[in-house]
Amino acid sequence: MTNCNGQVGDEGARPDTLNVFLVLRVGFVAERPSISARPFVVPERGSALHCGKVSLEKLARRYGTPLYVYSADQIVERLKLFQTALAGREHLVCYAVKANSALAILKLLAGHGAGFDIVSGGELERVLAAAPEAAGRVVFSGVGKTVAEIDRALQVDILEFNVESEAELELLAARARKMKRKARFALRVNPDVFANTHPYISTGLREHKFGVDIRRAPAIYKSAAGNRRRNSWIEPHGISVHIGSQIRSAVPFGAAMERVSKLVRQLGREGIVLKSVDAGGGLGIDYHDAEFDAAAKVAEWAAAVEHALGDFEGRLLLEPGRFLVGQAGALVTRVLYVKRNGKKTFVVTDAAMNDLIRPALYQAYHEIVSVRKRAGKGRVVDVVGPVCESGDFFARDRKLAPVAAGDLVALLDAGGYGMAQASNYNTRPRAAEVLVEGAQARLIRRRETIADLLAPESI
Ligand SMILES: *Cc1c(COP(=O)(O)O)cnc(C)c1O
Repeated sequence: MTNCNGQVGDEGARPDTLNVFLVLRVGFVAERPSISARPFVVPERGSALHCGKVSLEKLARRYGTPLYVYSADQIVERLKLFQTALAGREHLVCYAVKANSALAILKLLAGHGAGFDIVSGGELERVLAAAPEAAGRVVFSGVGKTVAEIDRALQVDILEFNVESEAELELLAARARKMKRKARFALRVNPDVFANTHPYISTGLREHKFGVDIRRAPAIYKSAAGNRRRNSWIEPHGISVHIGSQIRSAVPFGAAMERVSKLVRQLGREGIVLKSVDAGGGLGIDYHDAEFDAAAKVAEWAAAVEHALGDFEGRLLLEPGRFLVGQAGALVTRVLYVKRNGKKTFVVTDAAMNDLIRPALYQAYHEIVSVRKRAGKGRVVDVVGPVCESGDFFARDRKLAPVAAGDLVALLDAGGYGMAQASNYNTRPRAAEVLVEGAQARLIRRRETIADLLAPESI
């Protein structure tokens, strides 16, 4: 993994003057029809939890548990929020594949005009398998690109390489010349902006491994521009930033883009005209708030970025991951046992940390709801999986509605960095995945079998 991702902290918007300014500027948002934060609803009293029009009980019966269920409608809706907010400017939403790399989701997004941000050769192959026509809409990030990965990306003529070091730029130039293929590059600069998020997923400070120091960037662009006489296969094309993940205030995005914009103007005055600015991903969702207003968030983000970009005439790229898929997905799991140890009550589910590692890895919070409500009083429980690790929990000391063995529960907001980070730890086959579109549900990944897991090994 070339970038760390996941959770949270309490990094909500800080009250400051820029925020006040943004709220004024995007005041029209309130008039838009509000879009619900999550596609999981109980359509009428006494019925089971549904994804859109499809009952999770039915899906669990048909496909078994643990089961990831995603709403295609919500994923598209989220993509459109960005596309609409940026309608006044040439732009391309490059979905960050690592958040959820299901082929069906990539195809869905490509069909609605998205491009892709990839961080490995494997992710490139996923894009090519799902939507070969989108190769020209791919940007390639990551601090450790190999020769094989670079060559493949050159071969399929991706849009842009987000280059993270001078050594990488040298290698890219050499490979482009050798293959006689055009390499458009953007320097990923490190704007030295503090994004108040979990330390594992903050990336925009000088001490992080990502990007090059923004103060070094002018010299690198000039040198690349100068070298073009010797090697015309390499083209300074853009500039990119990505300051971290699960950032819920627009302020750090605005601050990073101000610095980038200033650099773009400075380079322009020196004759290096960049065609694209890539604002990166990282816009956060609210794992606690069922009323989370995604449209307002996007408007706030767009206003901050627009303000910084000013009259920049090139194309704006952006790389949202979690924001598009996070709230569209739930992990549906069956309660195996309810057990008491001393004063504690444990709800043991058939899903575990290998299916959804975010609570164990980032102390992430996921709302847990019963698929079919039971009458009675809730109680404080730990929700845990069967894996042999004390870290294998989904919630600790959580007040939960009453549940019994055999019940289904859903872990919400699990569409991003859920299945993407799943493993076979404890030789547990990975879950199946279902995509719901309107009233239709289809299996987009079958459940792994034990035979799948043993297949690559020999004795
Ligand atoms: C992970 C990553 C993203 C997406 O981050 P989200 O928080 O999911 O929006 C975008 N760009 C780069 C370079 C990344 O590494």
